[in-house]
Amino acid sequence: MQSNERLGIRKNLWNRKILDRRFLTVIYSYVSQRPGQTIMPTLFQRIFLTILLVIVTASLWVTSRPDMSEVGIPYAEEAPANSQLRVRWLGVATLLFDDGATQIMTDGFVSRPSALNLLFKRPIAPDIEAITDAIDGQKINRLAAIMPVHSHYDHAMDTADFARMTGADILGSLSTANVARSSSVPEAQIKIVNIGEPYSYGRFTITFYPSKHAPLSTNIGISGSVEEPFTLPAPYTVWQEGQSYSIHIEHPEGNALVQGSAGYIPGTLSGISVDAVFLGTGGLIDMTPEYMSDYIDETVHALAPSQVYIIHQDDFFLGEFGDVEQSKIKLSFDQTFAINLLQSVLPARLMQMPFGVDVSLTDVPIGKQNTDIK
Ligand SMILES: [Zn+2]
Repeated sequence: MQSNERLGIRKNLWNRKILDRRFLTVIYSYVSQRPGQTIMPTLFQRIFLTILLVIVTASLWVTSRPDMSEVGIPYAEEAPANSQLRVRWLGVATLLFDDGATQIMTDGFVSRPSALNLLFKRPIAPDIEAITDAIDGQKINRLAAIMPVHSHYDHAMDTADFARMTGADILGSLSTANVARSSSVPEAQIKIVNIGEPYSYGRFTITFYPSKHAPLSTNIGISGSVEEPFTLPAPYTVWQEGQSYSIHIEHPEGNALVQGSAGYIPGTLSGISVDAVFLGTGGLIDMTPEYMSDYIDETVHALAPSQVYIIHQDDFFLGEFGDVEQSKIKLSFDQTFAINLLQSVLPARLMQMPFGVDVSLTDVPIGKQNTDIK
């Protein structure tokens, strides 16, 4: 889709006749300090100027695209010091829940292999140093359970090593279990979950409901299951989706739903009520209005939350762990889409979370850089 978009841009450039010979002649006259003379650029000069124009136009286009701070979705403020139940977003769909005694985490994806490794299907493996740094830097020292929303590499790739290094249980599908076995996680730490069954850790209760992956073209070829453990490093395609889940997290201080991918199964979540929904928004901008409306009905309105936090909007192909800006080439949000989503989740408040900052699950003041939608 990205290359189609780029092709479209190139086509536009041709259509706009930017490469008109006279235009090039003027530029060349200027560059060669011979104003007024009509000079026919050589083929080499034409190619050079064409490339230059494409680069300049593409750069201008990319820099004109909005940052996540500019799309109009307010940021949640940091939790007050006395907050009993905190949630910290660590990029993509990684969320660390902490009640002061117990931590549980979704995904735990920090490795972020480069776009080229993915494009050429080069073998990749969890970045142990990045995982160690995340454990130390984010003070992940009471982790009891870790559960990927599905088994794609951008969710489940590092789950096993987080579990290995912290002693946490891994909860998930058979595919997730096989991913864990590939990293030699002891069997005692691997729990293949049953749909609808509650799993308790400290004061947290975690329940898994079946869901679907967002219908993205990038899902083609990775929508199967991980049938058996594999040897690392391996191309990203070994991390097949397996079962996708909506994860319901209950706690005496507040309840949440983590919806990692923008998919749903009609009726699955009715009867559950939560304070907050962590809403997967990757690719949602490209869905039809009908799809988006159904998705919001099934994953937000059915649960009547007061807060909805967007997740999975960041560009995990570029940048290290901690860089959570959206892709400027393939936007997750522009201002129009942000307003649509803000309005479609009403009466819940739509917010985004700053990276690595604890937010209170239940009592969430809106930050200063907000745009209030009435
Ligand atoms: Zn996925």
